[in-house]
Amino acid sequence: MTPQTLLTESMLWEALKEVMDPEIPVVSLVDMGIVRAVETDGRNVTVTMTPTFSGCPALVVMERLIAEKMKEVGAETVEVKTVLKPAWTSDWISEEGRAKLKAFGLAPPPVHGGDVNIMLVPTVACPRCDSTNVTVKNTFGSTLCRAIYYCNDCQDAFEQFKPL
Ligand SMILES: [Zn+2]
Repeated sequence: MTPQTLLTESMLWEALKEVMDPEIPVVSLVDMGIVRAVETDGRNVTVTMTPTFSGCPALVVMERLIAEKMKEVGAETVEVKTVLKPAWTSDWISEEGRAKLKAFGLAPPPVHGGDVNIMLVPTVACPRCDSTNVTVKNTFGSTLCRAIYYCNDCQDAFEQFKPL
């Protein structure tokens, strides 16, 4: 038998960067800050994740995608743990993730650092023209995770990933 290369945590993080968010397929679960921790003894893998919104139905899909990717890179066993505390916050979205959301036409949430005041008066910029001359259309976008805005400069609607 040829000795198998032992898995390292950095290899696994690289692989996880290829696992896309099932709801927003341009960003990975790592970009979104959903993957919290990866541990391995070289063969067996444990991934800890925190879903963005407990109401989002993608949890089971995400667990499956993570497990499949870990098997693909050679994990013998995969355990995906879901941790709900501390709760996911949109501050965990990486800079790269924010840039990708914007390129996708979805205004990234502002970084609020736990300060709830900014959430009452969110500074939302249009992902197309960066204008802040925008109006809230309704707070329930195509999913609970998004709000719909109208850009008064582009005269077009866009969605924002809600800060949380
Ligand atoms: Zn605009």
